Amino acid sequence: MKNFLIAGNWKMNTTTGTATELVKSLITGIDKDVPEVRILVCPPFTNISSVAQALSDSPIAVGAQNCHFEYKGAFTGEISIPMLIDLGCSYIIIGHSERRTYFHETNDLINKKAIAILTAGLKPIICIGETLDERTAEHTFMVLEKQLSVCLQNIEESQIENIVIAYEPVWAIGTGISATSEQVAEAHTFIREQLINKLGKKAESILILYGGSLTAENAKEILKIKNVNGGLIGGASLKAESFLSIISSAQSLV
Ligand code: PEP
Repeated sequence: MKNFLIAGNWKMNTTTGTATELVKSLITGIDKDVPEVRILVCPPFTNISSVAQALSDSPIAVGAQNCHFEYKGAFTGEISIPMLIDLGCSYIIIGHSERRTYFHETNDLINKKAIAILTAGLKPIICIGETLDERTAEHTFMVLEKQLSVCLQNIEESQIENIVIAYEPVWAIGTGISATSEQVAEAHTFIREQLINKLGKKAESILILYGGSLTAENAKEILKIKNVNGGLIGGASLKAESFLSIISSAQSLV
């Protein structure tokens, strides 16, 4: 039986009013709780507290979109993992392509964040994926292999089960052009093989999410692909109707 994680990345899009409204619509719209389908929302930092409060009696988990790798100190403007734990976060997205592109985050930095998150007992959602130029040059697998090698350095065996990988081809994020089923299947199979090579048999249970223009319309076709264990959803997670539809697609597949 497949387990899924359906995660919404709200990016820099909500304020207290819109975040609370969205979360209320999700709570009332979820018609059943299927434990095999975990649901997560990752609001902007400033909305995590109110969203976590609104979700306190619901099966929906709360996460963050980034963190610093140090637990405290003189890092003006940064947010630490203990601060996110304090707000009720259980997952943290790291290495999103927007952070790699606009904030120059490297695989080494993402590795430091992954270790800090795992050591604190939370689950990192580690984003990887190739750009259009890299795909056109047929470097996709080389890029994915490098991202996985560095991002997963020095992870302890006991921490493997808490790792989540999100395969997000950069050219598919926010463009309305999702990867084809063949491209998703090929990349996810490659990622699974790499995870097992690097981390051993325990890596068979790591959730590998697909992200990149996942919508209510294409979710079922993509989620049923082998080694696709959920989705990281941007645009379609900002409307309750489309996010709920993606959740029901996953629920229909378990
Ligand atoms: C994302 O931000 O991780 C993402 C996949 O965005 P979208 O679903 O809008 O392509």
